[in-house]
Amino acid sequence: MKTLKSKNSAQTFKLGETLGSKISQGICIALKGDLGAGKTTFVQGIAKGLGVSEKHYITSPTFTIVNEYPAGLLTLCHLDLYRLGSADELEHIGFDDLIDKDHIVIVEWPEILKDISFEFDIDIIFKFDKKYNRIISISASGQPGTNLICNLFL
Ligand code: ADP
Ligand code: MG
Repeated sequence: MKTLKSKNSAQTFKLGETLGSKISQGICIALKGDLGAGKTTFVQGIAKGLGVSEKHYITSPTFTIVNEYPAGLLTLCHLDLYRLGSADELEHIGFDDLIDKDHIVIVEWPEILKDISFEFDIDIIFKFDKKYNRIISISASGQPGTNLICNLFL
């Protein structure tokens, strides 16, 4: 696990951008942390790093559950499961079809996916410290995720 400190939203964005620029295949990333912790800011950075056109402004998909953005040959799928009542509702949003080798699936409020034992390639946790910096912990399970985060800290 790697832990970093971000002192402002620009730093969180930049970290996302660096990660996004290293992604070259489908991957699933969980973003955990309280409201305002910086999850959506991080996704905006990932979108930039992936080369998502600036005409798409990445907003929190809280009301739509999932937003998709073209990213070259890949697709960025940004989910926010905050309002999902149960794992059964995943079927309505076509979650299984989102998991694809060409999809970068990034999930805010991923906790409910535990119910279907879904495993992410990368888990990122955002916490506040006493000065309201963000402490960002990144861990991977499996080869694709491990390769990506090793690459990130070169
Ligand atoms: P979340 O998606 O986790 O609810 P957002 O990214 O939407 O969080 O919002 C984070 C808010 O906190 C933004 O208003 C941002 O400007 C502010 N902020 C302050 N410091 C940071 C930081 N270090 N990283 C990310 N956001 C920060
Ligand atoms: Mg958000």
